[in-house]
Amino acid sequence: MRRIAILGATGSIGGSALDVVARHPQRFRASVLSANENVDALVALCCRFQPDVAIIAREDRYAALRDALAQASPATRPMAGIAALADVAASELCDTVVAAIVGAAGLGSTLAAAHAGKRILLANKESIVVGGALLMQAVRASGARLLPVDSEHNALYQCLPEPAIGSAMRPEVRRLVLTASGGPFRGWSREQLAPVTPEQACAHPNWRMGRKISVDSATLMNKGLEVIEAHWLFDAPPERIEVVVHPQSIVHSLVQYTDGSTLAQLGNPDMRTALAYGLAWPERIEAGVPDLDLAAVARLDFQPPDEVAFPCLRLAREALREGPAATTILNAANEVAVSAFLQGRLSFLGIAALLESTLTRLHEREAADIPALLDIDARARRTALSLITDEAF
Ligand code: NAD
Ligand code: MG
Repeated sequence: MRRIAILGATGSIGGSALDVVARHPQRFRASVLSANENVDALVALCCRFQPDVAIIAREDRYAALRDALAQASPATRPMAGIAALADVAASELCDTVVAAIVGAAGLGSTLAAAHAGKRILLANKESIVVGGALLMQAVRASGARLLPVDSEHNALYQCLPEPAIGSAMRPEVRRLVLTASGGPFRGWSREQLAPVTPEQACAHPNWRMGRKISVDSATLMNKGLEVIEAHWLFDAPPERIEVVVHPQSIVHSLVQYTDGSTLAQLGNPDMRTALAYGLAWPERIEAGVPDLDLAAVARLDFQPPDEVAFPCLRLAREALREGPAATTILNAANEVAVSAFLQGRLSFLGIAALLESTLTRLHEREAADIPALLDIDARARRTALSLITDEAF
């Protein structure tokens, strides 16, 4: 029986992971569940899954969680705080960690699970964008099994020879090709993008996801973060990571080999496939995903990304070339920008403009350890916030 910690259980990925877990009660038990602040949603999941521990990240919600669990799920121990997430991820309470927190807030628990040698199903791409070098070092040192569940990286993992993670990319792999849906504004000009609203940006044509990643998909920053993620996961040089727009989101990504072969993984756009893959690896299990019907899909289109209308992809590539300090600044500024856009305080085009301004104002380009990265992250957030207040983006 695998004991699974689902960090970010109340989110979109958390819900998909729990759906797969519930289909296989003989194999999996959700032993740890966490949420940021929504006590009611977390307690409802505890009633259903009866975990050993429930963690609320916001410490001021501890009393509410404790009181509600005493009534609704008395066998579940309440805990609170970011440190508790890391402690539990590294503990005997779980052998598998589904890293499904959104943002750099997931870094500490992902790293703790890596140091402790757990099986990690990585959805939280921001943690590898910020701490990629250190995370991969920890994985190699501890023998942790890192399984990507971001759909593109899961596809690449399935198409690469073993060991895909933890050693240099093999010379016979010519390039990794990440597919991008293009988001809800594919084909739009900058003039058309200027007035778009959070509701339009969050209406993704193919995937139902949390609001932050939905906005990232609309700006193409999601693909930028994924290029950085692929670089660290597969030890792939940036120039061997390509992006192609594929509006149907059926081909999840491709690997091109030197002999002319291209291998791809296809499926319906449903995150349960990647989560079931990671949970059961190296076996395969039922995920609740309908079979792919290619005749019904009828056609698969591919086109190059438009980096003029969507500059975030270029910004991410530039930051990757500069190094971990730059990708940390990029990610932190993006988290601030997306949050401001969702609150109506920043325009859609202002997101990329804010990233560019934050990157030019901060000159740190060294970040050798976690305290240094967290310091750069905090300064980038402060800079981005003050730019929003001071300037008309
Ligand atoms: P979501 O907003 O739906 O859920 C986020 C979860 O994290 C929630 O449980 C929330 O309570 C928790 N959380 C938020 N802030 C937190 C904090 N500061 N501390 C602790 N917990 C916090 O997001 P999602 O769409 O499920 O995405 C989760 C992660 O997976 C993101 O990194 C995203 O990029 C990645 N991802 C998501 C999808 C998808 O289809 N949704 C696909 C690929 C990758
Ligand atoms: Mg993805």
